[in-house]
Amino acid sequence: MHALVFIKQVPDASQVRINYETGTLIREGVPAILNPYEVHAVEEAVKIKQKFGGKVTILTMGPLQAADALKECLSRGADKGYLLSDRIFAGSDTLATSYALYEGAKKIIELEGEIDFFFAGKQAIDGDTAQTGPGIATRFNIPLVTYLTKLDEVNLEEKYVVATRLTEFGQETLKVPIPVFFTVEESLNILSHSPLPWLVKAAQSKIEILSGENVDLDKNQCGLRNSPTIVKKAFTPEKKQRGATLTGTFDEVVDQAAEKVAPFLNNIL
Ligand SMILES: Cc1cc2nc3c(=O)[nH]c(=O)nc-3n(C[C@H](O)[C@H](O)[C@H](O)COP(=O)(O)OP(=O)(O)OC[C@H]3O[C@@H](n4cnc5c(N)ncnc54)[C@H](O)[C@@H]3O)c2cc1C
Repeated sequence: MHALVFIKQVPDASQVRINYETGTLIREGVPAILNPYEVHAVEEAVKIKQKFGGKVTILTMGPLQAADALKECLSRGADKGYLLSDRIFAGSDTLATSYALYEGAKKIIELEGEIDFFFAGKQAIDGDTAQTGPGIATRFNIPLVTYLTKLDEVNLEEKYVVATRLTEFGQETLKVPIPVFFTVEESLNILSHSPLPWLVKAAQSKIEILSGENVDLDKNQCGLRNSPTIVKKAFTPEKKQRGATLTGTFDEVVDQAAEKVAPFLNNIL
């Protein structure tokens, strides 16, 4: 069993600042954390490894400081971390990011062997697009299960999983062939504590660096220049007026609500 988890290091949301000229986030001096969703992806991949054996590999695309996020995953039981880092990736939108990660994952297959399970978080708490996971899965042309909330069954012999995911209308359970790509919800599992040996191993481990030098990349698909998404303007939206709280019996609340919407209705009717 070989699982690959895509992780992103993100600015700590409580301290995000925007450069209004470039429309990009100011990352310097802002504490960085492992994106909360993929912590649960690492947890799930390690649980499968504990049950069936095998290994868990982690890949992130980012600046050299992102190695800290890889180390955190190793301290949670993952086996090896790869950092895809190169100036050519700067300013990538999700199309360029999913391309670079796809090529990075292919390099990991070359170095570490075929992959049964691909994991990503549902979304990153900074860009929030939820597009990167589906973008990579599409390039591999493998089944994609988004918003994963439960892995009901894993059958490595017959190469299928039974998985439950969130939908707009509730949830659905699917039987899907392996290899498969998951994007995960935080409700997928409860995080376990890392035993000391994992912490020691993580502290001693070496992070493998991948770049345009050792990954077969089409540089014309990388970075800001080749990203179709252009940030036209970044701004902090005006704080909206707080809604009113209506109290009383059901009828009293209905009367109060009717009174509040009446002026608007008069305008449109
Ligand atoms: C405020 C802001 C707004 C943005 N808006 C857009 C936009 O509208 N369209 C657009 O194309 N780009 C946008 N970007 C750029 C976008 O953030 C990057 O392309 C980013 O690398 C991937 O998109 P995301 O952050 O939305 O991640 P998502 O697509 O939400 O991430 C989903 C999952 O993919 C994996 N993943 C994401 N990034 C990486 C990575 N670098 N390395 C490894 N795994 C990763 C993680 O598992 C993550 O949980 C925006 C960036 C910012 C900061």
